[in-house]
Amino acid sequence: MALISPESVERVKQAADIVEVISAHTDLRRQGARYTGLCPFHDERTPSFSVEPQEKLYHCFGCGVGGDVIKFVEEKDGLNFAEAVELLADRYGVELEREQEDPRAEARRQRRRRLEQLLDRAAAFYANYLWESKEAGKARDYLAERGLREEVLRDFGVGYAPSAWDKLLVAGQRAGFSVEELRGVGLVQRGRQGGEYDRFRERIMFPIRDRRGRVLGFGGRAMRPDQGAKYVNTAETDFFHKSQILYGVDRAKGAIAKAGRAVVVEGYTDVIALHQAGIEEAVGVMGTAITGEQVAALSGMVEEVVLALDADSAGQEAMLRAQNVAAGRRMRLRVAAMPAGEDPAEMMVEAEGAERFGGLVDGAEELTAFQVGLILSRTDAGSPVERDRALAEVAAVLAGMEESASRDDLIRRVAERLDFDPAMVMGRVVAATPATGGREEAAPSSGDPGPVRPRRAAELTSRERWERSLLAMCIALPNDGREYLGRLTDAHLSPTGVRAAAWLREHPEDPGSDLPHDDGELAGLISELVIMSGEEPSSREGMEHNFLRLEELRLEREIAAAGERGDYERRAALSRERAALVQRIAHAERPAGSV
Ligand SMILES: [Zn+2]
Repeated sequence: MALISPESVERVKQAADIVEVISAHTDLRRQGARYTGLCPFHDERTPSFSVEPQEKLYHCFGCGVGGDVIKFVEEKDGLNFAEAVELLADRYGVELEREQEDPRAEARRQRRRRLEQLLDRAAAFYANYLWESKEAGKARDYLAERGLREEVLRDFGVGYAPSAWDKLLVAGQRAGFSVEELRGVGLVQRGRQGGEYDRFRERIMFPIRDRRGRVLGFGGRAMRPDQGAKYVNTAETDFFHKSQILYGVDRAKGAIAKAGRAVVVEGYTDVIALHQAGIEEAVGVMGTAITGEQVAALSGMVEEVVLALDADSAGQEAMLRAQNVAAGRRMRLRVAAMPAGEDPAEMMVEAEGAERFGGLVDGAEELTAFQVGLILSRTDAGSPVERDRALAEVAAVLAGMEESASRDDLIRRVAERLDFDPAMVMGRVVAATPATGGREEAAPSSGDPGPVRPRRAAELTSRERWERSLLAMCIALPNDGREYLGRLTDAHLSPTGVRAAAWLREHPEDPGSDLPHDDGELAGLISELVIMSGEEPSSREGMEHNFLRLEELRLEREIAAAGERGDYERRAALSRERAALVQRIAHAERPAGSV
């Protein structure tokens, strides 16, 4: 992709009316210099979403999202940075300049555009064949028997691949595409004796799209039992990576944002049947297992995911694996156990099936509770060996859980069922809990980082609250701010705070004007700080107070570290220092604007 020049990006930002762009998604009311409204990213009844038209930034004090107008379009329309800039440039009539690029990159881009067109044409070809051809009559009957209406099938672009060996091959070539291109998107394949033929024949075709609605590939369902695999998908291509696909996400993304949760089901028809029944936050994972990439995609959209997978053992295993792939993400995973032998699509054809399914989803169990229940149900409590094994498994599961009433409940349940003393079960859980040095530093696990979801205000550590308040004041009062930014060291700050402070030192004039678009977390925090700086009172006393609080927390961490090293002399000295500091804080007047 040719890089859009930074000057062009700047012009787009200047030209775009952030209030107008955001107003398309939520009603904004003027309040002094800024606008407020209900947050378009999370469900709320009282407005905590702010737009700052001068700074051209937005921020939600409820869920923590924030950024500039480009970021908003990226998030809301599921676009990448360049796509969002293009869309705004189009809308506000800005001509984009691109930086010189390598001709091979340009060629790749053009090829990709052609293949996108090809996939789109193929989807239209199959859809047309489903509704117009005589041959597809039995497919139409099958879909109607499953209770799926024409309207929703057309919405999802469902189609039919004819039984002949080369209908698509011929149609594609006639439309000007080469055999090589047809093969490149996985629509035709080469036979053993050479020559190409259609990959999908005599199958109901489900186009699989990305968040923006672009066709990436297809899933094809066999019409006859003797037809080989029941489902055939597009082979892995440059476009199509099965492990990343969330079927129906293009149609579900709005409902997911609105409901604050996603419902994950297994099959194409499950997704379509649920949408038809009004449960539009449903997406499909194509098979029983949910992958880390799918979890990453969901965790960028929503914090709660309900797995409504089959109750059979494959489904159960998939749900257990989900726990591992979601580990380290701020995401609540729940399990709606489907009644044995029933899938969501079947349930939707019954009278009140939608209500029943809705009830299962609303009452879904936390994944940990589900796991514990599963381990218990597989254990023969009469066998001491089995009881010990189950206890070890349960302890490992519960060790990953925070201390809470629901954990205590589970511990009691385990003790009762396995006939152990609850205190003993608790002891095993604690023993299995990994030591967390500095809990508040707990960073997301390494590996695929996925999109970062900002944390809600209530989830901030006290250090993060003091730090944000102080940094916002540094923006409001830049002269004093320079001094405090100089006094703050990395040891005072959270990892994001370190980056934010560095950003403020580098951009003292106008910190919100040129946000980093490759660091969403930092961009979100800077927007929040800029908006906070205009909202909350700032004073030098307030800055001093916040700084002293951060200093106190820094000393506490050093005291703990000295203790762990066994350096008791140092620990005593630091403790005296801390006591003096606490005195100072107590004597200083509590200024307005502190946390
Ligand atoms: Zn929000």
